[in-house]
Parts: sequence; C-alpha cells; structure tokens
Amino acid sequence: MILHLYNTLTRDISPFKPITPGKVGIYLCGATVQAPPHIGHIRSGINFDILRRWLITSGYEVTFIRNVTDIDDKILHNAIHEEMPWWALAQKYERVFTAAYAELNLLPPTYEPRATGHITQMIELISLLVERGKAYPVANGDVYLDVRALDSYLTLSGQKLDDLQSSADGEESIKKNPQDFALWKSAKPGEPSWPTPWGDGRPGWHIECSAMAQAYLGEKFDIHAGGLDLIFPHHENEIAQSNGAGYPFAQRWLHNAWVTTSGEKMSKSLGNTLRIYELLKRVRGIELRWYLGSAHYRSMLEYSPEALDESAVNFRRVESFLKRAANQLGKIPSSHIAEEFAHAMNDDLAVPAALAVISELVKEGNSALAAKDSKNLEVKSAQVRGALAVLGCDPWDDTWAKSDAALEEVVSGLVKSLLEEREVARARKDFESADRIRDRITELGLTLEDTPDGPRWSR
Ligand SMILES: [Zn+2]
Repeated sequence: MILHLYNTLTRDISPFKPITPGKVGIYLCGATVQAPPHIGHIRSGINFDILRRWLITSGYEVTFIRNVTDIDDKILHNAIHEEMPWWALAQKYERVFTAAYAELNLLPPTYEPRATGHITQMIELISLLVERGKAYPVANGDVYLDVRALDSYLTLSGQKLDDLQSSADGEESIKKNPQDFALWKSAKPGEPSWPTPWGDGRPGWHIECSAMAQAYLGEKFDIHAGGLDLIFPHHENEIAQSNGAGYPFAQRWLHNAWVTTSGEKMSKSLGNTLRIYELLKRVRGIELRWYLGSAHYRSMLEYSPEALDESAVNFRRVESFLKRAANQLGKIPSSHIAEEFAHAMNDDLAVPAALAVISELVKEGNSALAAKDSKNLEVKSAQVRGALAVLGCDPWDDTWAKSDAALEEVVSGLVKSLLEEREVARARKDFESADRIRDRITELGLTLEDTPDGPRWSR
C-alpha cells in the first residue's frame, strides 16, 4: 500500500502523490512567539515530525518549512506588559520554542523563516492582489481582501459567506464587505511599521504565511499543515490570498487535533495550559514525546497525569526489551521497517495501530530473548528500533543519549555526596543518620548494596 493521507480540503483519505516525484514540500504554521510553548504546540510539531520522518523513511526528499510569527498584536501587547522591545520579546520566546523542539527530538526545519524577514514578499503579494482587483486599500492605509471578488472562498471550512460574522480584522465602516479581512494594517503610534505604496504599516497575520510558503516552496506545493483551530480563519484566508493572486498553493491540507484537559482545548486564554518543563519533571523527554505522538493526529489527546504515567510505563517496556536485546546481541542491527508497521503508517499515519504492531514485535522479541534465538531476536529488535526511529523515540538517538547522560551525571553526583555523608555518619557510629541517608537514596529509585569494596548503587 502506498501512503494515503487525509485532506481537509476534500474531506477524504486519498493516495499521496507528490507534485515532483521523489520530493515533498511541507509548510507547517509555526509558533507566534508571544509566550513559552505548551504541550498543545509541541503535539502539533511532533505529529508533523512523524509525518516528515515517515516520508524520509519511505525514500522522499522532504523540504520542511516551519515559520516563526514574530510580529503580531499579541507580541506587541505582551511586550508592553513585560516592559521590553517587541522584537526582543519575540526573540526570547523563539529561543524557548527552539529549545523545547530540540529537547523533544524534532528535526530542525529545512528553513525557518521569520515573518519580519519577508515583508518585501508580503508587499509584492498584496500589490498583485490589488492589481488583480482582489484587494483594495482604504484611505487610512489599511488594505483589505475583497472576499466577494474571489471565485471561491471558504471551501476548506465548508462555511457560507452569508452565515459568516464580520471579521474582527479592521473597521466595519471602511470595508466593502463585513467579512473582508486585513492584509495590511496602517501604522499606529508606538507600533513598528514598514513603508509601502499605501503608507506605513505592518502585515496582517494571514498574509505572512501565504508569502513565506510561496517564497520557499513555490506557487504550488504538496502539503500545508497546522492545528485544527487554524482552519478558519487563518488557512481559509491563506488560500484566498494565494488563489486570488493566481497561485494554486497547497494541494493537501493536514490538521492535527488538540491536547485537551477535561475535554477542553488546552489554550492560553483558558488558562489550562501545561508547559513541557512541568511534565519533564514527571517523565523523561523520550517518554513525553512517545506520549504526545501516541494518538492519531486527527484525534484529540485527553491529557491526565495517569495517562502520561501509563504511556511512560509502556515505553519503558519497549525500551527495556531493546536494551536487553542489545546486551545479548552486542548491538542492535541497523533499523528495519516491519511490513505491518509500514501498513499502519501508510494508512493516514495510524500511529495507534503502529503502536500495536510494536507491542506485538516486543512480545515476539522477548520470546526470542528467552529462547536465546539470536536470529529471530536480531530481526525483531531491528524492526522495533526502526519503528521507534520513525516515531522519533529511538533510545540511541543523540538527543536522548545526551539527555540520559546529563541525567546520569546529576544522579551520580547526588548519590556520591549522599554516600560520602553516610560513610561519615557510619564512621562516627551514627547509624540512625546513616539509615536515613540510605532511605533517601532508595527514594530516588535506586538500589544500594554494601559490598566488601564499599557501597554500590544501581537503578
Ligand atoms: Zn500560518
């Protein structure tokens, strides 16, 4: 079976055929860098990182663009709040996002364009829209897209123009239609602005992605991805702008569902966000990634601490099999893709079915381990490792090896000083203190053994 993917535009699953054989261009709407990421943002990144890894594994050359929105109402607002320049605030949170993505082993994008670096392309695109009669400037210097001048609008979200409320983007009295949205916003005192033929101002959010996607992927490209909440208005408006300019734009639209808590979307405005660094106190990075990638990308992932713990335990079972297999075999042979795993991934990235395949492979691998059947063990462990690599969870991946080594260093430093304290206590026959220290070491999840050569600890 070749790869089949859902398309929000046609609302069905269809075979994926790239525009250029062997090559795939993907644009993923990245972060508006106004605050640190929560796990909802990271889930979107992981879902499409898995898509990218699967395409690479399937032999495609992938150009992956994930933008940074570094100019936006919320950034300007938060900059006043945090008493720093807007551009410094954007840089600060961009770094936090980058660190979080790296910590969870997301492949760095091929290009990561910032909106403020592509104002020229945005002005060119708006000029073209004005020229073609699809957009119009108004007296105050705003430029709007005339949604009634388009051949089609709202095909992605399936809404009707007359049912649509007025876009909150701009002033009613100066727009031709209430649903028209701003491509360009005239300068306001104290706000950053760039010169244009219509006066100084700054870009609207939607035009940024249309211009950046085209700059890096061309007038027509394979896949546009993003979170479910972006379908309207953001993606709908991207299509309107690019089609209005005469460009075919994205051929397929993929949207990931949310992380929910008590059935509600995790969002900053609801105040129910979970930051990844809070969760990394509970589980390791590789376990968090496994958890956030475990649901089908189009299904909601209902977060609870218990679900996270359970998922982490499942991962450790897989990991421990691989480590034991590596001990017996010397090393795990280079990764290999099991046919059943490929089948699941080719079925619109059915990760839950792929996880069931992994579980079965581990079961068979464990039997091979017990039977000391090296030949079979080699096959199963290579298939498990190959599957984990696609999910970004190969324990031998540099990212995880580094974080495990760092953790090991912290733990061994801590244990070393506790053991020294315990030896001092024992030397002065203060056995009560010595026992208390021993308890503390056990609480860290470690086993302590007193040997003739001195105390020895292990996990
Ligand atoms: Zn976007």
